[in-house]
Amino acid sequence: MSRLVSLFLAAALAAPALQAQELVVYTERKEPLVKPLFERYERETGVRVRLLSDGAPVLIERLAAEGANTRADVFMAVDAGNLWQAAERGLLAPLASPALEAAIPAHLRDPQGRWFALSQRARTIVYSTARVKPSELSSYEALADARWKGRLCLRSSKKVYNQSLVATMIERLGAERTEQVVRGWVANLATAPFADDTLLAQAIAAGQCDVGLINTYYLGRLQKDTPGFPVQVFWAGQQDAGAHVNISGAGVVAASKNKAAAQAFLEWLATPSVQADFARVNFETPARAGVALDPVVAAWGPFTADPVNVSVAGRRQAEAVRLMDRAGWR
Ligand code: FE
Repeated sequence: MSRLVSLFLAAALAAPALQAQELVVYTERKEPLVKPLFERYERETGVRVRLLSDGAPVLIERLAAEGANTRADVFMAVDAGNLWQAAERGLLAPLASPALEAAIPAHLRDPQGRWFALSQRARTIVYSTARVKPSELSSYEALADARWKGRLCLRSSKKVYNQSLVATMIERLGAERTEQVVRGWVANLATAPFADDTLLAQAIAAGQCDVGLINTYYLGRLQKDTPGFPVQVFWAGQQDAGAHVNISGAGVVAASKNKAAAQAFLEWLATPSVQADFARVNFETPARAGVALDPVVAAWGPFTADPVNVSVAGRRQAEAVRLMDRAGWR
């Protein structure tokens, strides 16, 4: 075979991956948070990124039902437990990507390369600046103390964010100690669990309770909209393992016909300037280290995050759900 012919063959074999002109993203992350970035990708590369938006459990069932016929190339979710579920179901392709491995810390991605964090979302303590001093606060566990009786607000245990938090506590403290803590939280509740984190933060501001647990970006939105909002972030567990972080992240769909192009898109999402925008639009922390923070996020100060691999949120999810149910967290 002449050198020219083999060069031609090599180019022809590589062509399909390079020629993908369109990618389809199944995304649990809300459309307004990702659409501007997808449009930027099209401007920079010519590759159009279309999206289908729904809750992760719905998207996972859809991917499973579509099987080899799916048009999806990328799956994006906002909880490590959901990414873990998709990977467990065999719906995500393992990637070997030196770029992603260098950009995303090891504890924020699947050890098998099937999903990667794109942003970090801490779930920590928030408190009333009118009725609580930060010196009264320390760990998640300490919110089970009797001093918080009638003063704690929680979101519903049905929300996967709480299931992921409890899953990491089981990993760190063991099931028995975690159940004691969760029972203490339930005993300290000021009112029935809320349907979302925003309502919880507003309940603290309104004096219905004094402390609670939320994903910090919900407070970021309220602080941005209402200067002087009387609720502040406290970084839990700084004397111990660190604050619990969850992620939003993505993986390449196993049945995608455009795997190389989908991987290139994920690698682009992990570049520093895209990472800054991805996190800033939702008051999150970039997954990649050393990327600039939104001023609202920077004002909460630096914190140590629990270094446990976030895949534990999936691995221990069922156990966490049963524990919360036993402990009476509705
Ligand atoms: Fe959320």
